[in-house]
Amino acid sequence: MQLSETSPYIGRFAPSPTGPLHFGSLVTAVASYLQARSKKGRWLLRIEDIDPPRQQKHAAELIVRTMENYGFEWYGSVIYQSKNYKSHKDALNLLIERSMAYPCICTRKDMANSKVGPLGAIYSGSCRNQRNASNNAYRILTNNKEVEFYDQIHGRYSQKLECESGDFIVLRRDGLIAYNLAVIVDDEIQGISEVVRGYDLLSSTPRQVWLQKLLNYNTPRYSHIPIITYKNGSKLSKLNGSTAISEIHITETIYSALKHLNQNPPKELASAPLLDVWSWAIKNWKIEKLIGKKAVILASQ
Ligand code: GLU
Repeated sequence: MQLSETSPYIGRFAPSPTGPLHFGSLVTAVASYLQARSKKGRWLLRIEDIDPPRQQKHAAELIVRTMENYGFEWYGSVIYQSKNYKSHKDALNLLIERSMAYPCICTRKDMANSKVGPLGAIYSGSCRNQRNASNNAYRILTNNKEVEFYDQIHGRYSQKLECESGDFIVLRRDGLIAYNLAVIVDDEIQGISEVVRGYDLLSSTPRQVWLQKLLNYNTPRYSHIPIITYKNGSKLSKLNGSTAISEIHITETIYSALKHLNQNPPKELASAPLLDVWSWAIKNWKIEKLIGKKAVILASQ
C-alpha cells in the first residue's frame, strides 16, 4: 500500500552510531529535516544502534550532541532502535510462520562460488528446503516479479530480487536482526510517511518494499538524495574515517550543506545567526533541485 499525499508528514533521520557525524551525514540530516519542516511535518531522530560490532563507543551521544548544537529540532525523545528488538523479532517470527523466511546454514566458504551482481553475491537459494533451525541465519524468499517503487528524485526503480540479490538475510548468523528488516519495522511503527536518505540506499529499497508487502505494511514515499563523495568518487563515510563536522563553525557548515544540496543559499547566510539560517532554509527548500543527482563532489571548504 502506498501512502497517500494527504497522510500526515512524518520524516526521520536514522544514523548508525559508527562514528561522529561527518559532512555526508549532515547533508542527509539537513535534507530530511528541511523536507519535513517545509511540509510542516514531524521529524524523528532514530539512532540505529543494532549492530554492536560496527558501532563506536559514545558515537550515539556525540551524534545527538552535535545535532542539538546544530539546532535540529526533532519530535519527542531520541529513539534508539535497539529498544525495538521485540518488534523486530515479532516481524521475523511472522515471516517464519508464513513460510516466507527460512534458516540458512551456508558459511562464507559456501558462498564463495556464488554469482556476483551489482548488489554483491547473489544467493543461489540452496537452503530453501532447510529445516535445521538452531543458531542459523534466516533468509527471505524472493521471486522474479519486478519489485517497483517510485523515487521522487530518481523516478521509477525496480529489481527482480531473486536474480539480482537472491533470497536475502533478515537474521544474521550472529543473531542480530539485519538492517533491511529492522528499518522497515521501525518506519512502520513510527508512521514514517517519507524516507529521505542517501542514494547509496536506493538499491536496498526494493528489498525493503518486498518486506513491507509480505508484512502488509505501508510503503512510505522515498527520496534518495545525492551522496557526498571525494574527488576520487569514494563516499564520505564514518567507516572510512571521514572527520567529524565542526562544532564551532556551525552556520558555515550548514551553509555549505545547503550549497551541496543545490539550494543556492545567499552568501550572507554563512555568517547569519543559526535561527535565521534555518528559517531561510525551511522557506526556500526545494527537493526538486536534486532531481536525477546521484552524487556531489565535496567542494574544498
Ligand atoms: N542507519 C543507516 C545509516 O546510517 C541509514 C538507514 C536509513 O536511512 O534507512 O546508513
